[in-house]
Order: sequence, then C-alpha cells, then structure tokens
Amino acid sequence: MNYREIFKSILPPESIITSNEALINKYGIDKTKNITAHADCVLFPETAGDVSHILEQCSKKKIAVIPRGSGSGVTGGAAAVYGGVILSFEKMNRIIEIDPDNMIAVVEPGVITAEISRAAEKFSLFYPPDPASLEECSIGGNFAENAGGPSAVKYGTTRDYITGIEFVTVDGTIMHHGGKIVKNVTGYDYTSILCGSEGTLAVITKLYLKLIPKPEKSTDILIGFNSMEDAIETVIKIIQQKNNPTAIEFMEKEAIDIVVRNTDLKNFFPSSKAQLIITFDGKNNDNLSLKVNELFDIELISEKNTFIAKTEEEKKSLWQIRRGIKDAIGLTSPVYFAEDTVVPRSEIPSFIKKIKQQLRDHNLHSIFFGHAGDGNVHIDILKDNMDDEKWFKIMPEIRRLIYSIALKHGGVITGEHGIGSLRKNYLSMAMPQEQIDLMKRIKKAFDPDGILNPGKVIDLDV
Ligand SMILES: Cc1cc2nc3c(=O)[nH]c(=O)nc-3n(C[C@H](O)[C@H](O)[C@H](O)COP(=O)(O)OP(=O)(O)OC[C@H]3O[C@@H](n4cnc5c(N)ncnc54)[C@H](O)[C@@H]3O)c2cc1C
Repeated sequence: MNYREIFKSILPPESIITSNEALINKYGIDKTKNITAHADCVLFPETAGDVSHILEQCSKKKIAVIPRGSGSGVTGGAAAVYGGVILSFEKMNRIIEIDPDNMIAVVEPGVITAEISRAAEKFSLFYPPDPASLEECSIGGNFAENAGGPSAVKYGTTRDYITGIEFVTVDGTIMHHGGKIVKNVTGYDYTSILCGSEGTLAVITKLYLKLIPKPEKSTDILIGFNSMEDAIETVIKIIQQKNNPTAIEFMEKEAIDIVVRNTDLKNFFPSSKAQLIITFDGKNNDNLSLKVNELFDIELISEKNTFIAKTEEEKKSLWQIRRGIKDAIGLTSPVYFAEDTVVPRSEIPSFIKKIKQQLRDHNLHSIFFGHAGDGNVHIDILKDNMDDEKWFKIMPEIRRLIYSIALKHGGVITGEHGIGSLRKNYLSMAMPQEQIDLMKRIKKAFDPDGILNPGKVIDLDV
C-alpha cells in the first residue's frame, strides 16, 4: 500500500513517515515487554480536521489505525500488533485554555500530563491525576487508559476529571460530548463510554478537564516496617482513621534497594523490610499536623520508624525512590512482567500474603510496590536468568494464578494499565461471555470493520 500517496493531500510530507525503519519501529511499540509489533506508516495530525480526513481514508481502504500518545503504556495498547498506521498526537500538544472562572482546562490529546498540572498551578488550580509516568505520558493516553496514580486514593482517576471531549468516529465524523460544564445527563454518556476504551472505539482530539483549588499545604511521611505484613496491615489502619490521605504508597525492601543501587538516592530505613509513603494535603499546617500526629496512635508507627519530609528537596527524594522503581526493575532484569490487580482495601493483607507465597513456591523473583491506599498494589515478576523457554511457558500460568486470586478476593485483573493486547486472552476470567459479547456489539457499533486499534481489548469477528 502506498501510504504517502493516500495521505499526501491531508498532511505535509514531513508529517508522514513511511521509509525510516528505525522511526517506524520506535512508534510501532510502547513500553510493554515481550511484545513484537511493526507499523507500516506514522502520521502526525495537527487538527481534528486532519484526524477526520485520515480516518475517512482508513475506513474507505480498511487500513488499521492505532492512536498513540507518548507510548508509555505497558499492555501493548499503542503497539501495532497487526501493522497499520500509527496516529501520533505528538503535534496536537497545545493547552488551549485554562479557564479559572469555570475551573476547566481545555487541552489537545498530546499534552504531557505534568504540563497540565504546571499550567493549572499558575492559577492556584490543581489537576490531581498523577500517574508515575506523568512527565512522559499524554492526557489522551491517560483518558484512553483511565490512568490513575498515587493520589487516586483521595482524588480518583482521570475519568473523574473529564467534563467533556471532542472525538472522531472511525468514518471521520467529528463529535462532541459535554464541555465546560459540571452536570450532563443528555443521552448516553459518551465520555464515560470512551474513557478507558484504549483507542478501540473512537479517537479523542480535545479534552475538557475539571480543575480544583490547589491544596495550599502538603506533607509527606515515610515509615519503615519490620515486615511486609506489618506495612500492609498499617494501610488499613490509616484508612480507618478517616483522615483522607492523598496517597498511601507501598514499597517492599527490594523495590527500594534496587532504586538506591542504581541512583544516588538514600534509603532512610535501610534495615526495614517494607516502607509506606503517606501524603496528606490541606489548607494549613495545623490541620496537617493533627493528621500526622494521629498516625502515631497506630501501634506500629513510632518516631523511630518515621521520617517526616521537611523540605521540598526531602519530599522530592521520597517520591523519586517510588517513581524510580519501574526503571530500576528494568535495569536489574530487562525482561519482566508487571501486574496491577486491584482488590478491596480490606483484602490487601490476605491477598498479598497469598500471592507472595505462591510466587515463592514457584521460585519466582517478584517485587511488590504501588498504590496500597486504593488496593492497587503492583506485582512485577522478573525473569533474571531464567531460560526463555521456561519463562514464556510459565508466564501465562502465573498471570492466571494472580488473576484468579484477585478475583476470589473480590478484585479485578487490572486497575490502571488496561487490557491492551497483553491481557486480551484473560478477559474471560474476569467477566461472563454474555458481557464480552455485549462489548463486541458496542465495538461493532463504533467500528464495524474493526480497524480501530485492532488486537486490543477484544477481537471482533468481522
Ligand atoms: C514508568 C511508568 C510508570 C507508569 N505509572 C503509571 C501509573 O502510575 N498509573 C497509570 O495509570 N499508568 C502508569 N503507567 C502506564 C502509562 O503511562 C499509562 O497507561 C498512560 O496513560 C499512557 O499514556 P500514553 O500517552 O503514553 O499512551 P500510549 O501508551 O501512547 O497509549 C495508550 C492507549 O491509549 C490510546 N490512545 C492514546 N491517545 C489516544 C487518543 N488521542 N485517542 C484515542 N486513544 C488514544 C492508545 O491507542 C493506547 O491504547 C506507567 C508507565 C510507565 C512506563
């Protein structure tokens, strides 16, 4: 197929890549391990009109289209697993407006998430969703994955901050839902249907984001524990205090050790077996001090095992350790797989104990960390020196094991990274066939020929 010829009347030559193998490969994959993909062409639209014309052409010619933000996804969502055209939003990266009166940001999908937070701050406003990848991921990718981060425990996920969208359907029609409004029950809620749909139903070209007043003060506390069990039991006790922490992040010893080994960051409690980072935010220091003081009512928390970050530098270094875990795991074992199951918060201790034991029984090297406050603890399993044959054989078995334990505990198989192409074959563990069939009918209504991000979430029998 001569892609340059097909798209030359829509985009300037420099916005169409068809011949640079290295670049096509770079855009054809995301951060997922063990995935092979190869795109045929990369396009860089600049307007919703460009996207509309591209989709119209792709529909006519039945060309697969893979929307792409920053490619930081970890389930193969933006990977061209069946080839096709990558629709990169790199050039649609404008913050169109910060409207302080309505407390709304209007943005294009390619804006990097952290830039939205920084732009809002200039108006003393706050965009709370904070995936650990916030300096590299795009808001379009966040919407498509319904990304969350440490602050989800208090503020929720991306979905909770979308008041409207502009989207383009597969035939090229530009549509709108919501806007700078707080309430809307006009017909089906397209924003909710499309949020988390992983680029399989429509392409997002503009987003209206709810902003909230920026909390004036915040405090970050690190607590070291003698065992992982102690740390996890404490999470429940902190939640029971009803002081509404902004974040409760969990890191087991090895997660911290590998970051410290690969950086010049300091481990504040080197002999601890697990640590929690707790953040409170609010209007004034007195209010925060009360919340911090109450932590010491919990038996396992004392001044000896607690570090309260006093300076911005200290706060930053606590979070640098947490945010550096993924990269450090990649340096330690370039091949690993990452699970982000969620269980009800009260189930976390028994869930983690069970999984850890099962992984030990299988002689697997695992590292646990993540958003303990919302039940979304990440489990990364490292290949290390295991031979390829054994690794690829055992991976699906271990995934099934983890998912079945999460489901038995009333949880779900993914809390933020999505299904993508990686977990597609496990969806039937998480929902009955009737529900999968309904998903297929929804997919077919939006994308009858199955050209939008094929091979992700569900397969359409077209
Ligand atoms: C180090 C690291 C830490 C991470 N931490 C977190 C975390 O804390 N929380 C979390 O939720 N995730 C996390 N992630 C995963 C990832 O960053 C998120 O899934 C993020 O939302 C992906 O954004 P992106 O712009 O990179 O999207 P991409 O990876 O490019 O795409 C993701 C999906 O969105 C679709 N898509 C992208 N743009 C559009 C659009 N405009 N219209 C329609 N569909 C679109 C793609 O087709 C794909 O299915 C982490 C990843 C890494 C590497």
